[in-house]
Amino acid sequence: MNVLLYGIQGSGKSTQGKLLARHLHLPYLSTGHIFRDMAKEGSREGRYIKETLAAGLLVPDEITIPIVEKYLSRIEYKKGWILDGFPRTISQAEKFKTKIDVAFYLLVSDKEALWRLSFRMGPKGEIREDETLMAIRKRIDLFHKVTEPVLEYYRKRDLLVEISGEKKIEEICEDLIGKIRWYQKGNGNKG
Ligand code: AMP
Repeated sequence: MNVLLYGIQGSGKSTQGKLLARHLHLPYLSTGHIFRDMAKEGSREGRYIKETLAAGLLVPDEITIPIVEKYLSRIEYKKGWILDGFPRTISQAEKFKTKIDVAFYLLVSDKEALWRLSFRMGPKGEIREDETLMAIRKRIDLFHKVTEPVLEYYRKRDLLVEISGEKKIEEICEDLIGKIRWYQKGNGNKG
């Protein structure tokens, strides 16, 4: 089962991705996590990614696509995966040739997401460099401009399933699992 997860920052997609991965015994992969780790490296590429993330901009396709392909070619991703954060642009979606079973869109309003993110701090009360109010606004803005067309791309292919992200964590997870079970029973793409 190859699953894509979409939602604006603060929609809870990484929480749900990890829960889903545990329930389905599938690996969870987040391009955001990969890039945040790379941003800690002292290399030229690491420094470049750090700056890109801090500005709330997207990492170029020439870097992003080979990284995702390299990960997904590993043995542990053979039976399927939960992918969070990719494809994020139409060009990424077009270049990504792997079969997808379902793309979930976690629906949360911008207002609710901003409200949630304003409470998301590190253990010492620090905020992430890419979660300053300016960077968050930029990322939400980019989601609407750049990623919404990707949702349309999957909707046209009958792969998009919208799920309310404004419920309790467990309820959202049940909704997602329910849909996946339904797909696994061979009910095709619609529903
Ligand atoms: P996320 O945690 O998914 O919001 O990702 C954090 C940051 O990583 C984004 O703001 C981008 O700078 C970068 N990033 C993650 N996924 C992608 C992608 N598919 N394409 C380009 N940049 C990405």
